[in-house]
Amino acid sequence: MRSRFRCPRCGEALTPWSRELELAEALNPFESQTWLLPSQWFVRRDHPRLRDSYLGGHPASYPWLFAPLTRWWLRVHPDPRRTAGCCGLACCGADLPNLVCACGLEIGLGYRDCAGPHWFALHETVVHEQAVDPTPPRSIAGRLARLRQRVGRPIARPGYDPGGRNAWHRERTTWNEALRLRAVTIDCGGGSEDPALVIESPQLPAGAQLVVPLPWCQLVRLVVLGEQPWAESESPLTWMSGAREGPRVCVSRYRRRVLLTAWGPGQASWAVTIEVRAWAEAWAGLRG
Ligand SMILES: [Zn+2]
Ligand SMILES: [Zn+2]
Repeated sequence: MRSRFRCPRCGEALTPWSRELELAEALNPFESQTWLLPSQWFVRRDHPRLRDSYLGGHPASYPWLFAPLTRWWLRVHPDPRRTAGCCGLACCGADLPNLVCACGLEIGLGYRDCAGPHWFALHETVVHEQAVDPTPPRSIAGRLARLRQRVGRPIARPGYDPGGRNAWHRERTTWNEALRLRAVTIDCGGGSEDPALVIESPQLPAGAQLVVPLPWCQLVRLVVLGEQPWAESESPLTWMSGAREGPRVCVSRYRRRVLLTAWGPGQASWAVTIEVRAWAEAWAGLRG
């Protein structure tokens, strides 16, 4: 089955058609600056893996949890006292919802601040629409086994620094300060405890590779579940490897380019832009 959630007042769809996430390895109860789960999926707050996590005390009146997507009908509440975190969208609890429907109804909680996973949650009064899934995901176990094997090879860290540290997702004029990659290939390695992406491109110096650490749950989403490898620039796809305490990685798209930034740890930062088609094809290659 798949589900879609609608506003109880105006009837507008608040989410795209989504599936309930069963693959526990794609769920993220602990990593900060990383989505709780992939886009186009949802979990209930009573999921057993969330019990001992940051989400353990999540309010029962907001039982439906999603990735923090922006291209929905949900909007951030206009009252900054409900939304201002130290570095992203904060959440003050069930009494002060910070996400509203386009019609103005206060219907959601959202969190994109520093400690713990990023998520959106919908109130229990939303209309839950269900339909038969026309293309249910297949061969997940087989893909997971292949990924485990592939990620096992060792990689040389830390990788090449291409510069471009002033590029910023929301400021599109800064994107041109980053090295522009027209063709890329992606592989992974480092083991499932501390994996990283390895990116090669003819636009990098000979022998140079970009090495991008990521949590195992994020690699599983991108490769096994086929998650879209970017989000929009208002709320980029983001992750951070807790095993290395960084870097914080963000990927966003604008027109035909994606911007990939890696910030920290410390002062280490770099950015590149990649043609969207080349980035999508490189992920398709890694998924096999
Ligand atoms: Zn509404
Ligand atoms: Zn913060």
